[in-house]
Amino acid sequence: MKVEAGTEDLVQKDRAHLWHSMAKYNEKAAPMIVSEGEGSWFTATDGKKYLDGVSGLWCLNLGHGRQEIAQAAYDQLLNMSYSPLTMSHVPAIELSTKISELLGESYTTYFSNSGSEANEVAFKIARQYHAQNGKPEKYKIISRYRAYHGSTLGALSATAQANRKTKYGPSAPGFLHVPPPYSYRSSFADRANSDLAAADYVEEVINWEDPETVAAFILEPYISGGGVIIPSPEYLTRVAEICRKYDVLLILDEVVSGFGRTGEMFGFMHSKDAQPDIITMAKGLTSGYLPLGATAVRSTIYERFKKQETKAHFRHISTFGGHPAACAVALKSIEILERERIVERVATVSQSILSKLHQLNMLPQVGEVRGIGFLYGIELVEDKETKAPLSDEKVGAILAACKEKGLIIGRNGDTIPGYQNVLIIAPPLSSTEDDLHFLVRTID
Ligand code: PLP
Repeated sequence: MKVEAGTEDLVQKDRAHLWHSMAKYNEKAAPMIVSEGEGSWFTATDGKKYLDGVSGLWCLNLGHGRQEIAQAAYDQLLNMSYSPLTMSHVPAIELSTKISELLGESYTTYFSNSGSEANEVAFKIARQYHAQNGKPEKYKIISRYRAYHGSTLGALSATAQANRKTKYGPSAPGFLHVPPPYSYRSSFADRANSDLAAADYVEEVINWEDPETVAAFILEPYISGGGVIIPSPEYLTRVAEICRKYDVLLILDEVVSGFGRTGEMFGFMHSKDAQPDIITMAKGLTSGYLPLGATAVRSTIYERFKKQETKAHFRHISTFGGHPAACAVALKSIEILERERIVERVATVSQSILSKLHQLNMLPQVGEVRGIGFLYGIELVEDKETKAPLSDEKVGAILAACKEKGLIIGRNGDTIPGYQNVLIIAPPLSSTEDDLHFLVRTID
C-alpha cells in the first residue's frame, strides 16, 4: 500500500491503535512508517530512503521487490488457496524434500508460522521422543545465557536474556542455562581456550543434572540477537560430541543463521561432525516474504512417531503452519539463493567487509568487532581496559546518527541489564557492492 509522505492522520491512527513490537513508547518521536521497498532500501513516510542494515528483522535476505517470489505466492493462492497439513499439499511436500536435500541427510519437517513456534515444536518433539523411548523423566532443556529463542512462553523459557523475562512470571519448569562461548567476557579463567571450556561446562551440567533427565540442548550456531557471538568452529563440534555421548538431542536454532546468513547454507556447516538432531528455521526460509517456521527432525527420530497408537502421535496442530503460499514462496526463495550463488558470494564478500570493520578497533569506544558471513557485531565500551559497556544513551545516539545518514542498524537484545552495547549489522544477502560500501562508510 503506497502512502503519502508525512501523513499526520496515519501517525495519529498508529498512536491510537497499533501496538508495536519492543519499541519503547515515545509520544514525541513519530513512528517510522515504511511505505515502499526496493532491493536493500526502503522509503518511509518522512520521504527519506534508508538502507536496511538489519534486513528487517534479519529476514529480508533477498531484499524487496523480487517479482518471481510475489508471482509464486500469487500463482499458488489462485490455484489452491489453503489446505491444512492434516492433509497434504504439493508445495509442502516439495519444500520438506528440499530442506532434507539441503541438510545433506534424511530429515522430516514439521511446519509452523514463526521461529518461536518452530522452537516450541522442537521442545515438544524432544520430550515426546524420549518418553516414547521409555524415558519420560528425560525432559530438561538446556540453553545458553544471552540466547534468544522466541517470545512465546516455552521459547521464552529457553531464552536467557534477563530483561525480556521480567513481568512474565517464572520460566516453564525444566529449562536451565549455561554460559555462552563468549571469549571477550568469558566466564572461564583460561580465555584462550574459553570456547572449549564453555563446551565442556555443558558436559558438567548434564552430569550434575543427571543425564537421564536431560532431553536436549538448544543453541544458535552463532548467537545473533544476543550480541553476535562467534565461537571457533570447534565449539559446536565438541558440543555435538557431548550431546551424542549422553543421548541429549542437539537442537540447532538456525532461525537467523539458516539460508546463507553466515556464508554457508546453514551455520552448523562451518563445524565438523555437528549435524543436528533437530534444526529450526524461519525468517530467511521465505526471505521474509511470508511467515513460515520449520522444525526439521532427523528421520531416525521421526521413526519413533510412526506408530498406530494415538498416544504415540505428535499432538500438535497449526492452522496456518505450512501454508501453501508460504511454502511456494520458500521454494522460490531457495531457488534464487542457489541460482544466483548468493551464499558463496556472502562468504567471499564478507572477508573484505570484516577487514574494514576491524579497522574500527582503533577507536577508544570499540571493544571488539565480530562477524561471520553477513552478520556483524561491534561491541562498544566506555573504556577498553575495564570493558564497561557504553551507556544506553550513547549507543542510542550512534543508532540515531546512522539513521540520520540513511542507514538502519540494530543493537543486541536485553541480555544483561545495562548491556545493550553491541551494534548489530546484518544487511540483505543480495546487497550490491554500492550498498555495502555505503553501509561500511556510514558506520565509519
Ligand atoms: N530464534 C532466533 C535465534 C531469533 O532471532 C528469533 C527472532 O528474532 C526467533 C527464534 C523467533 O522467531 P519469530 O520472531 O519468528 O518467532
